[in-house]
Amino acid sequence: MSILVVGSVAFDTLKTPYGERQKILGGAATYFSLAASYFTDVRVVAVVGEDFTPQNEAVMTKRGVDTRGIQHAKGKTFHWAGEYGEDINNERKTLATELNVFETFQPSIPAEYDDSDFLFLANIDPVLQTRVRDVMRKVKLVGGDTMNYWIEGHRANLEQMLKRVDVLLINDGEAKMLANDNSLPLAARKVMEMGPRALVIKHGEYGATIFFRDGEFAGGHHPFRAPAMPLDEVRDPTGAGDSFAGGFMGYVASQGEINRRVLKHAMFYGSVMGSFAVERFGTERLQSLTREKIDERFEVFRELTHLD
Ligand code: AMP
Repeated sequence: MSILVVGSVAFDTLKTPYGERQKILGGAATYFSLAASYFTDVRVVAVVGEDFTPQNEAVMTKRGVDTRGIQHAKGKTFHWAGEYGEDINNERKTLATELNVFETFQPSIPAEYDDSDFLFLANIDPVLQTRVRDVMRKVKLVGGDTMNYWIEGHRANLEQMLKRVDVLLINDGEAKMLANDNSLPLAARKVMEMGPRALVIKHGEYGATIFFRDGEFAGGHHPFRAPAMPLDEVRDPTGAGDSFAGGFMGYVASQGEINRRVLKHAMFYGSVMGSFAVERFGTERLQSLTREKIDERFEVFRELTHLD
């Protein structure tokens, strides 16, 4: 099975209590692709500028990621700068968002990607997300992400996008803001009424919960909570959410069926990939994993919760 992801490929400037990095490879589509590449074939649609080197692209192609959908435009690559406080998991300040070539990005899907089985709409303008979704009619499942910026200022466009997404992955603050409700279960229900058949709400260092719309996905009724790995060393939380999404969608794509059991297991693989991502700066850890290492950590998660 194959997954197409559309989203940002970026240079990130990061400062955490453990150090600083200038303009290292990042972006939601990058983290997603690397994480998903351990499970299935991945294709990327994104845009980069003239400062994006063949070495940068090789980080993805070495993992077998198909980068033919990355457009090379005149100008500079999207640049994001962020700083984390002492409470590394909970304090993040965005210092700069320089859109550069991203500002005029028009996703264009190469003909070779038409047969993609799964689609992930990473956090970009919901108008672009909707456009890509509408072109990819044959996909079996669509996952999506968004952020406060679009919830606050672009709600009408976001609502169009939500109608076309099967599984939305957002954090708890975003879910409450989107639903305008401080009760998480009620917020989850309201968000699913906007379109998604399942909703993954991420709780940062405390794990994630999946909610299912009534009657959707065979095999049970209740929401399901997956813990996060209690990690000794969190060096850089950037990309945790996108790596979670990559592990989650990648695992689903690697399975023959899409039911609640598969989605629950996918929650664990999402947590596993998120936990690896934050152990080193940038995408470093995601570049050098093996499926054995991933499954070893999955087993630890299974023991943590006695998942059978
Ligand atoms: P996460 O830590 O999972 O929220 O994702 C961080 C990644 O998202 C970084 O690598 C950034 O390059 C990228 N990013 C930050 N802001 C934006 C934005 N407004 N649009 C798209 N990607 C972004």
